[in-house]
Amino acid sequence: MVRMESRTRPPASTDVVVVGCGPAGAATATWLARAGREVAVLDAAEFPRDKTCGDGLTPRAMLEVDRLGLGDWARGRITIKGLDLRGFGHDRRVPWPAGEHGGVGSAVRRTVLDDRLRQAAVEAGATVLDGMRVTGVEKGDDGEVRAVRAGADRVACRTLVLADGVRSPVGRLLGRTWHRDTVYAVAARSYVRSRRHDHPWIGSDLELRDESGVVQPGYGWVFPLGDGEVNLGVGALATARRPADVAVKELLRHYARSVAGRWELEGEPHAVTSALLPMGGAVSGIAGPNWAAVGDAAACVNPLNGEGIDYALEGGRLLAELIVAGGGSGTGGDSGTDLTRAWPAVLRETYGEAFAIARDAARLLTVPWFLPLAGPVGMRSQTLMTAAVRCMSNTVADSDRDVVARAWRAAGAVARRLDRQPMFADAV
Ligand SMILES: Cc1cc2nc3c(=O)[nH]c(=O)nc-3n(C[C@H](O)[C@H](O)[C@H](O)COP(=O)(O)OP(=O)(O)OC[C@H]3O[C@@H](n4cnc5c(N)ncnc54)[C@H](O)[C@@H]3O)c2cc1C
Repeated sequence: MVRMESRTRPPASTDVVVVGCGPAGAATATWLARAGREVAVLDAAEFPRDKTCGDGLTPRAMLEVDRLGLGDWARGRITIKGLDLRGFGHDRRVPWPAGEHGGVGSAVRRTVLDDRLRQAAVEAGATVLDGMRVTGVEKGDDGEVRAVRAGADRVACRTLVLADGVRSPVGRLLGRTWHRDTVYAVAARSYVRSRRHDHPWIGSDLELRDESGVVQPGYGWVFPLGDGEVNLGVGALATARRPADVAVKELLRHYARSVAGRWELEGEPHAVTSALLPMGGAVSGIAGPNWAAVGDAAACVNPLNGEGIDYALEGGRLLAELIVAGGGSGTGGDSGTDLTRAWPAVLRETYGEAFAIARDAARLLTVPWFLPLAGPVGMRSQTLMTAAVRCMSNTVADSDRDVVARAWRAAGAVARRLDRQPMFADAV
């Protein structure tokens, strides 16, 4: 593919500045540029860049990848049919739920996926600049962002999108706060050569034991990449009250040894990296009059499985729609909608119920006795695990009317009503 570079210096002014060109930033920029907005995307990294991740694309993510026009490209790398669940004495093969999300997934290493998403933004007409770390934000007395600074460069904008990832350094300048009293994850990933690199099922080990045999509140994964290697990793849930008492990279190596035979691994895991994952909207101060955070910067990660690419892509599309509809376009004589309340309201409406119940379930998993007790019961039943995968992957569609869908929605509504922890809350 011919690599399309837009330019090497940022414009002096533009309609929208997007900080960060991961899935959230690239999707927001692509949708805005397709709608005719002038967009400049600034990313601190040089692409192709790596990102600590499991590289798994759920059916929910694939729906967005399809909408961006990249579905055949992703499925051409590998098509994943579902999960091979294992643990507590049972093996269960559970296909991804069919239905409006399409029933197939994929896995693409992030050096490749994010570069392709970035390219889609360029093709849509966005100006995308690598190696541009945003270090400052200029605000007016009315709270509106006027410009961002990246070293010596200043870019004036009518709207600012923060897609600057889990640490959200620019979000922090604007008051974005992560709340660790809500459940979060500590996770590590690696790459390993495997003779089963093209196996069309994800390995998901729900009985994740450390070297001393203690069951950890999390799971181990093997995502086949179809390119000679698998992405192998582990994730453990934690809260400020119950921090994960685990050396996650050691846990990963131990896990790799335990699945080496089954996955026909060749050699040791390499490129081992770890990261924290704020989840379930556990952030406040994610929007102002003409700015909004999206993706990991808005903690849009599923608390039950740590997936966030789908929410980053989906969130980018939803935010672009809001901006195109008149949101956050700066007052300056314009009648734009204030994003301060409008954007968190969209996120709560879209994810509130699913995240509330997932947060509760994930918090329960951090209670040491819960998983050893519940795991064997769940894994005994194919029906239960099929329903669990559907709920955990958040692929229950609004139009679904079956018992599982109704029960999940009802539980979500109750969890949301009882939820006292901040979810996409106002600035504190
Ligand atoms: C171990 C692990 C495993 C995971 N596995 C999966 C999985 O299998 N499937 C899944 O769906 N999700 C997974 N996730 C979650 C997923 O990685 C994230 O949800 C996703 O990357 C969010 O995308 P984003 O665009 O919001 O942020 P990012 O992809 O992190 O992009 C943020 C971008 O902002 C840039 N940036 C940061 N600061 C600045 C600045 N000051 N100026 C300019 N640019 C800046 C960065 O360089 C970066 O390119 C996993 C996460 C972890 C930690």
